Amino acid sequence: MKKNIIFCKKCLYPSTHPLGITFDEKGICSGCQIHEEKNNLDWNFRLNKLKKLLKNYKSKKGNYDCVVPVTGAGDSHFIVHVAKNILKLNPLLVCHNKYFNTEVGIKNIANLRVKFDCDTLIQNINLDVIKKITRHTLMEFGNIYWPIIAGNSAFPVQIAAKYKIPLILWGAHQGIEQVGMFSHLHEVEMTRRYREDHDLFGKDEFSLLNVDNDIKDEDILQFIYPNKRTINSIGIRGLYLGNFIRWDSISQHKLMIKKYGYSATNLNRTFDTYNYIDCFNYSNLHDFLKLCKHGYSKVLDDACREIRYKRITRAQGLHLVRKYELNKLRNLNQFCDWVGISEQSLNFVIDRFKNKNFWHQSDIDKWSFNGISKKLMKSEKKIKNFSIKNFQSNFSRKNSTKKEYIYFGKGI
Ligand SMILES: [Zn+2]
Repeated sequence: MKKNIIFCKKCLYPSTHPLGITFDEKGICSGCQIHEEKNNLDWNFRLNKLKKLLKNYKSKKGNYDCVVPVTGAGDSHFIVHVAKNILKLNPLLVCHNKYFNTEVGIKNIANLRVKFDCDTLIQNINLDVIKKITRHTLMEFGNIYWPIIAGNSAFPVQIAAKYKIPLILWGAHQGIEQVGMFSHLHEVEMTRRYREDHDLFGKDEFSLLNVDNDIKDEDILQFIYPNKRTINSIGIRGLYLGNFIRWDSISQHKLMIKKYGYSATNLNRTFDTYNYIDCFNYSNLHDFLKLCKHGYSKVLDDACREIRYKRITRAQGLHLVRKYELNKLRNLNQFCDWVGISEQSLNFVIDRFKNKNFWHQSDIDKWSFNGISKKLMKSEKKIKNFSIKNFQSNFSRKNSTKKEYIYFGKGI
């Protein structure tokens, strides 16, 4: 059923946001409303509150104080910096190997280990299993990132259980940052439920077994989230630093470049040079599948964030979205070879996931895009030229000879 889509008057998010979004009487979305807390809360008080809370988690038995999940991008450098230098904890870094690693991602993981002098555990799951599951999630849910997200969210909890470390530190909570799902004051913590419902799109690891495919019990072993009894017996909690520190991913990345030499680079489908740069496919096929299903891609998330921090206007944000969202995909051959399907089959799958609310099919292979940005253009004024200045790139892929996924590098 076609519903009328409404748009936030401040940012660019539509009422169809997959995480769920609400609007007040002025037409401002819940994400923008909760964002205002960043300007109103007493963040010194909140950081002190966290410091007090963590006193109970300093290990007295020579164990690690906390687990910190890391990647070669995202907020990993900043989280480790906060854990070690501000909270004075001894963290164990854990990293689920996504295998689509880029050179810059590997460089950043190596940098983390060297600059912060921490122990790191890497989870390398059998490649044949990963390919099998990726093929399945692509065909069934139009998603190539399920194994990566499932691994990223299960491995830290498995390690916390195995090493009996009761604390996991995460960065920002995506539901708070994008759609204001909770107030920062609710101090929500990591839950199995959120992982299943939102991170994994309602499909937990066991649901992979219930369909007609060749995925076996032993194939999902490394994706299993520890059971309640294990979590409760150790008292494992996963805290989000974004509830205690005024989170601003872009300012934080700039600080990490200055302080620790974090590497940033340009991406194909967004202006953000700091996040998701560790992956060949995130800012390509994965992002395009999002555009197919939801009518918008990562660049719209990035633009909404920048609008809320008042670093760009709404019209400039829309200009950036239109500039990037239909950029041609790169590395498709490589992905098809890797996963073992033809490019023709991949295109067939992609078309199958095009949401008719956002795509118009005029012939068997002719589609036109009628997504969120097109609908927004009807009401927002157009601007001709705008280039964003706030994003540095200190690593150039042109210098890189490696065009293949780097399974294992000097950081791993
Ligand atoms: Zn908004």
